[in-house]
Amino acid sequence: MDHFDYKDGILHAEDVAVDEIARAVGTPFYAYSAATFRRHFQLFQEALAGMDHLICYAMKANGNLAILKLMGDMGAGIDVVSGGEYLKARAAGVPGERIVFSGVGKTRAEMALALEGGIRQFNVESEPELLALNEVACGLGKVAPVTVRINPDVDARTHAKIATGKSENKFGIPIAKARLVYAEAAALPGIEVVGIDVHIGSQLTDLDPFRAAFDKVAHLTGLLRQDGHDIRRLDLGGGLGIPYERSNMAPPLPLDYGEVIRQTVGHLGCEIEIEPGRLIVGNAGIMVASVIYLKHGEGRNFLILDAAMNDLIRPAMYDAHHDIVPVRQVAPGTEMSAVDIVGPVCETGDTFARQRNMPPLGDGDLVAFRSAGAYGAVMASEYNMRPLIPEVLVDGDQFAVIRPRPSFDEMINRDRVPEWL
Ligand SMILES: *Cc1c(COP(=O)(O)O)cnc(C)c1O
Repeated sequence: MDHFDYKDGILHAEDVAVDEIARAVGTPFYAYSAATFRRHFQLFQEALAGMDHLICYAMKANGNLAILKLMGDMGAGIDVVSGGEYLKARAAGVPGERIVFSGVGKTRAEMALALEGGIRQFNVESEPELLALNEVACGLGKVAPVTVRINPDVDARTHAKIATGKSENKFGIPIAKARLVYAEAAALPGIEVVGIDVHIGSQLTDLDPFRAAFDKVAHLTGLLRQDGHDIRRLDLGGGLGIPYERSNMAPPLPLDYGEVIRQTVGHLGCEIEIEPGRLIVGNAGIMVASVIYLKHGEGRNFLILDAAMNDLIRPAMYDAHHDIVPVRQVAPGTEMSAVDIVGPVCETGDTFARQRNMPPLGDGDLVAFRSAGAYGAVMASEYNMRPLIPEVLVDGDQFAVIRPRPSFDEMINRDRVPEWL
């Protein structure tokens, strides 16, 4: 559920009319609903109720400072994947003891940053990383709390670019090697083993792969405890999918996901961490664009928008579907026709939808891309010298720009021309 509905014939974000935001900030832009963020966080809280747990929001899905503050104020932890994300989470007021550090390529500088600033745990993904972390920690006179990310070799049954839990993926340590790596970790003076980490992929629409992975984690917990490790924390990653196509998909609910966690690892007496990103923010955001032209091509028509693949890359990168709706509600009985919905960038990949049934739209009409809150703004670029589009947060009847559109001057002046040129 989200908070983007038609009222009086106009799409609203909570109580604010989307066309009003468009007049205030110009198009294209992202708009987020604070109520939806809060609701999704609460759904996970309810799903894990009764278990000692921490929900570590995966900020790579949407890392705006205002959203991090909103999440942090509700008590969320944060899952970061870079030194920059770590610093931004801290800047939003989230304490180090609620930040977990994931990622396959942490540098020594990033490790030092987190160790000095305070960190809940590193999710270590390889033996070389373990050794490097030990060295950095010893050098600083610290001990790094660590889980090892294991690769359970389960098929997440999601898009190949976001599946991470098969043995051929670059992520984690093969589960068969886990006991060896934990023994190695336990012998290092700068490392303290605190638990196990797993994350099998993103946009999972089926609970079975989670169950398979968590069963393996439970089994491994037993083995590692026999080996003398104090496994007290299980980080189960993120990955729960959202319905991008309202019409035909009902992914599992957080409550059912919580039940799978309870059944598989609930008896182990471990603190449970999860790292949801997409489910918290995905349906809490829309991208709004204006129609520039309706172009009549040979055999097909093109709806050309002022938003492009640089603003929302998911269709080009993951073949992703986004529902695209007119901001002005169409009257019942309006005739629809199939159009290709495209941006102005000079790439065929700059296509948001092919042969999508849309009502008649023309110059200046507004459309909204639903489910654009996750992996939208964060993956945007300024390709074609197109400014990063603004982000707006709506809360009830108020809204604020939480990242302004840069001016062309700002963009141009980021470059430097050497004196000798
Ligand atoms: C991307 C990622 C997440 C978040 O995944 P979602 O599908 O957005 O929930 C969590 N943990 C790790 C390690 C990730 O790489």
